[in-house]
Amino acid sequence: MFSVTRKVGSVVLCMLVASFGAEATDETSITRAHLAKNVILIIGDGMDDHQLTIARNYLVGARGKLSLDHLPSRSAVQVLAVDESNPERAVYVADSANSATALATGLVTSRGRVGTSAGADNDIPNLVELAAAAGLKTGIVSTASVTDASPAAFYAHISFRACENPAMMKDALIYDRLRVDCSADLKARGGLGSIAEQLISSPLDLALGGGLRHFQERAEGRDQNLLVVAEEEGFQILQSRTDLQSLATDKKILGLFAPSTLPVRLRGEGGRVAESPEPSLLNHIHWSQGDVEQPAPMRCEPEPEFAGTPSLKQMTDVALSQLSQNAERGFFLMIESASIDKKSHTREACGSIGEVAQLNEALDSALNFVASHPNTLILVTADHGQAAQLVPVESLFAGFNLPVFTPGKLIRIVTPENSILAVNYATNDIFAEEHTGVNVPLLANDQAFGLVPSMLTQSEIFDAIKTYLAL
Ligand SMILES: [Zn+2]
Repeated sequence: MFSVTRKVGSVVLCMLVASFGAEATDETSITRAHLAKNVILIIGDGMDDHQLTIARNYLVGARGKLSLDHLPSRSAVQVLAVDESNPERAVYVADSANSATALATGLVTSRGRVGTSAGADNDIPNLVELAAAAGLKTGIVSTASVTDASPAAFYAHISFRACENPAMMKDALIYDRLRVDCSADLKARGGLGSIAEQLISSPLDLALGGGLRHFQERAEGRDQNLLVVAEEEGFQILQSRTDLQSLATDKKILGLFAPSTLPVRLRGEGGRVAESPEPSLLNHIHWSQGDVEQPAPMRCEPEPEFAGTPSLKQMTDVALSQLSQNAERGFFLMIESASIDKKSHTREACGSIGEVAQLNEALDSALNFVASHPNTLILVTADHGQAAQLVPVESLFAGFNLPVFTPGKLIRIVTPENSILAVNYATNDIFAEEHTGVNVPLLANDQAFGLVPSMLTQSEIFDAIKTYLAL
């Protein structure tokens, strides 16, 4: 029904445009304003149904509903990846680079790649480029560095996600052990340069998030750093919440509010993370569950560093206000809550919960915007699954007189409704957890009716955005 209404509406508007001709009258500008269509794509990095359920239980209680839960269109999304050495072969667990590339370009590629094809290393046009070429405004907002893999896939093309600034392009190490080589993408070799350099030369009207340190590096082939280059290219640089709140400009905007990822809202008590249950070795012949010492329950508490930086909602409000000004053709905005994933890698359930809360507030801003801009498609999705699992506080096998404990790490959180939420991490035994290969949700407003099927791939989300915006 909604798609029919939209179709009839657009036919009427086309007739109006035809009758007004090319003259720049008040009526034509009004008509053009009505032709504008906007897409707000909200990505929860690693936000699978486990993460959503854990966060919902903590934030609004087991019977509660988040704003996310009221969105009327609900689909399941297949997350695809392929092997770098054999792009015909499926890989069942993705990373943010390849999955964001599927959302941003429609192409299924290999892990670590940003806007480029597996094996062949071809650059694939992305939504920011397509939308800008069609006259739409474009923006990205993220709680990660604006050069992190998920936002980067929407404006950049590079063989490896770690090449975020000029100093990372060759002979660089990540985690002091993994060698990075993007030398084929150096400008000196005819490439587009690092991700930060590509942001500056991209058609983006706005980029808000973290990642200041990447722009403090010297530009390839120049003595100036990338902040200077960005200003030369017409960006106004923002570095504080005050800068953001007092913004009054029609220039392009680059907001960099932390050296790297923005601080999250919540943390475990005193910074506690998930811990290993400790089985007692004293009574191993007649073990019972009581012989295992589980991590002590704790509450989530505010992360002190969060207070000084803009929230995702504050950045979203500014982005919507800026992008909707003089946007005759509309805009495309990608918003990412990044640390649902990052705090799951480090087994910090409270951190992930706070990031789902931030995403939900950014959605509230988007819904508020839609109330006065109805031709706006809101999509909320995740790029891939993550390690966190909601597990029982008391095992089903507690009566077996066996030492029942997880081989992974466990965190037990006292919820505001005064129960205990147990979250388990068991994909790895090193310092970081892995992603998982589960399908992820796609939630959308009524503009998605007739446009988004109940089961689709991330490439088909790209197709739906292109169709909606007539790109
Ligand atoms: Zn991750």
